[in-house]
Amino acid sequence: MDAPQTSIKSLKALAAAEAACRRCPLYRDATQAVPGEGPGRAAFMLVGEQPGDREDLAGKPFVGPAGRILDQALKDAGIDRKETYVTNAVKHFKHEMRGKRRLHKRPNNYEVGRCKIWLDHERALVKPATIIALGVTAARGVTGKTLTIAKLRKTPFDLADGTKLVVTVHPSSLLRIEDEGDRHAAYAAFVADLKAAREAAEDSSLHGADASARKRAAR
Ligand code: SF4
Repeated sequence: MDAPQTSIKSLKALAAAEAACRRCPLYRDATQAVPGEGPGRAAFMLVGEQPGDREDLAGKPFVGPAGRILDQALKDAGIDRKETYVTNAVKHFKHEMRGKRRLHKRPNNYEVGRCKIWLDHERALVKPATIIALGVTAARGVTGKTLTIAKLRKTPFDLADGTKLVVTVHPSSLLRIEDEGDRHAAYAAFVADLKAAREAAEDSSLHGADASARKRAAR
């Protein structure tokens, strides 16, 4: 994470800066920037790719069908939604028109790189112990690198600042699976990844508590 050098000291100020952002061309065709949402300090930060059609109109992240799957999966994984801060790697909706429909287009590496500054600000403000990257674009937004989900999704790993990173799929990918059996299997794997994130967070807070107890005993 680049240490943000800025006067932005609150999520409200950050949302205003994102709304005024012209760092890449995506602001031109979007309705508005969609800032992250959640508590000012959260144990988990969930990072998606970009706002979808519904999110662009509402100005809120994960309010569409993918958000409903995410909410259910968090519940099934035992993660309290109130403990999560949700956001996207890219804050404006990238799309192309097909007739009257706005079809999602994946942001490119340049756009993800230009928008990373806002994600870094969110990390600095929210200070999550665990980040869950939902899909390759999210993983790139967090790390600045291209990662392969299939290789990484089983094991949480540490970022340079000690934050745990769990990489999994974006919930919208589950919506595109037509075969019901395959969709159920993919959902179960998604929930398993979220559970791994919860267990990693519990382990680190346990070890943190142990370390504090050891320090107190040593005084
Ligand atoms: S997508 Fe990100 S970098 Fe591009 S204009 Fe919007 S807020 Fe700025």
